[in-house]
Amino acid sequence: MMKSYVHVYTGEGKGKTTASLGLAIRAAGAGHKVFLAQFIKGGRYSELNALKRFDDLITVEQFGLGRFINGEPAQSDIAAARNGLEKMKEIVSSGAYNLVILDEANIALHYHLFSVEKLIELIDCRAGETELVITGRYADPQILEKADLVTEMNAIKHYFKEGVRARVGIEK
Ligand code: ATP
Ligand code: MG
Repeated sequence: MMKSYVHVYTGEGKGKTTASLGLAIRAAGAGHKVFLAQFIKGGRYSELNALKRFDDLITVEQFGLGRFINGEPAQSDIAAARNGLEKMKEIVSSGAYNLVILDEANIALHYHLFSVEKLIELIDCRAGETELVITGRYADPQILEKADLVTEMNAIKHYFKEGVRARVGIEK
């Protein structure tokens, strides 16, 4: 059995979610089974349409309500994220997947949708053959500590600052 690792893609620059999607495609290309869980997000992401073509190898599920959380999250946002984390604990401990991606789990933690202890529990119950990727800005220092690989996307420039909002096919 090949040893597997925990990755974190964080930072303010573009490329965290798309890096994880690139890895999902590479893994599927090797015949590996992939589970992509999206926290915070709900609906309307072009990658969902694209990944349907690989549905024998890549499973996608969203555990978000697809709205921006500003300040206090609603009980429904919290319930969706906690339910997602519980399900993903089963998925990562099952050994049925070679690659599991928790997209925007750092953000869910940042907005206190679940505790850092709960995310650490998930990391700790990971099956030996399951590579785990956690994305999202503002990664918790305790999660960085648990990771084997941390990449920080550094926004040297981002057109978001010029008022360019998420575009279909490029950001969503
Ligand atoms: P991609 O999905 O293109 O790989 P990412 O995962 O690195 O990007 P996120 O941090 O998940 O990027 O950002 C999601 C969206 O937030 C972006 O598509 C953009 O529209 C918006 N965004 C980018 N920069 C900022 C910023 N500085 N503040 C608030 N929102 C931003
Ligand atoms: Mg992202």
